Amino acid sequence: MSAESYAWTAHEIRDAVTSGAVSARAVAESYLARIEACDQKVQAYVDVWAESALAQADAVDARLARGEDVGPLAGVPVGLKDLFCTKQGFTTCCSKILKGYRSPFDATVVERLADAGAVFLGKLNMDEFAMGSSTENSAVQVTRNPWNLACVPGGSSGGSAAAVAADECAFALGSDTGGSIRQPAACCGCVGLKPTYGRVSRYGLVAFASSLDQVGPLTKDVEDCALAMNVLSGRDERDSTSADLPVGDFTAALRPDAKGLRIGLPKEYFTDALGADMREKIEAAVSALEGQGAEVVEVSLPHTEYAVAVYYIICTAEASANLARFDGVRYGHRAAAAADVEELYRRTKTEGFGPEVQRRILLGTYVLSSGYYDAYYSKAQRVRSLIRKDFLDAFEQCDVIVGPTSPTPAFRLGEKTADPLEMYLSDIYTISINLAGIPAMSMPCGLTESGLPAGLQIMGKPFDEATILRVGYAYEQNRGLDMGRPAVA
Ligand code: GLN
Repeated sequence: MSAESYAWTAHEIRDAVTSGAVSARAVAESYLARIEACDQKVQAYVDVWAESALAQADAVDARLARGEDVGPLAGVPVGLKDLFCTKQGFTTCCSKILKGYRSPFDATVVERLADAGAVFLGKLNMDEFAMGSSTENSAVQVTRNPWNLACVPGGSSGGSAAAVAADECAFALGSDTGGSIRQPAACCGCVGLKPTYGRVSRYGLVAFASSLDQVGPLTKDVEDCALAMNVLSGRDERDSTSADLPVGDFTAALRPDAKGLRIGLPKEYFTDALGADMREKIEAAVSALEGQGAEVVEVSLPHTEYAVAVYYIICTAEASANLARFDGVRYGHRAAAAADVEELYRRTKTEGFGPEVQRRILLGTYVLSSGYYDAYYSKAQRVRSLIRKDFLDAFEQCDVIVGPTSPTPAFRLGEKTADPLEMYLSDIYTISINLAGIPAMSMPCGLTESGLPAGLQIMGKPFDEATILRVGYAYEQNRGLDMGRPAVA
């Protein structure tokens, strides 16, 4: 273990803090110094909570000194994507319309992390309202990929992924509506899990598309991902879509082999759309898993080609409804001197929302409008059912499905901003999972020729995050890769 605790994983920090080998304050100071050293370049944080982080760390140390049990994340420094409501600081979704907004309550996941002993370092950059795949839609700043500062970190949880990759937090929370945890995790070489829809409470997560959104962790390794999932998962009375199912212990289910597991490879994912370099990395990872005792079978997900189109009908429809509340009356920005309420709404939204958010509201309003509802929205819902059925059928033949997270490694800043469709296609492998409501994790599987990380995606049956984590852990323990860490500072 390196002397600098910012380089440790969450479970290493927790063990060192609980055993008294290091104080929670020293860990928090190490991370704050790291942020100081790196974030000028990476720009992952939109707000750093230095003072309160040190106070929280001191509280952890004081409780330990009294012999109290602090929790499974004792002294672990965490960063939060800026769409989790927090009483502390601001909650802006990196939008001008919520500039200066303070939430009167904490999201359930924030409460759970606090109860587990975590220390909050601050809020992380994101695409405005989580719409995007590069974090370039943030109204605040441009986050850079720690592996190559000329490249994007992915999105929309780009600040979260960049902060984890640059060791600016032990782990981060993100949200995933169509790939926003997994794609940035892949771009930045971290582990990112989108849980099953309903596994983690969405209470206090600012809604983008409510039938697709899920909260999940971005971590440095698979064990940390399991640890975070133990804390985050479970029924919450304040979110009626959260599932009342046993959570179990995800860390206890980790095993260093894949014996007896069947891995499905979807033939629709291994086409020319997948770059040769990326394909080679995925195939090597699959061989490594075979070496660990897994059996590989080919599966088919025949409706894959419709996923991007279906997603951009459903997510925009839901976004147009969810974002109607930002009208200048109740929250955030309000246009000055409007003559009547209609002008107030129009001017507030025109001034407050960025171009991508406006595009989605317009698209969503259109697909829901009378005369078009049946042609677009209802049809998309029917195809969505077929996409879910594809996965459930494939899972008759295998325990997990494995493929790429993203067709290419991180792209250059500005490369896709002029063409929204190009940007939308970054999520071609992640979107179906949200439409189906199933869990999936991205984890690093080497560096491509460009020196940027490649992401392996492991998809599981509904509520079977345990098997995903087990397969990921088996691969991580035996992959024989030393990717190193990005050299930021
Ligand atoms: N990139 C996708 C989009 O722009 C997914 C975003 C997300 O998962 N929040 O909608």
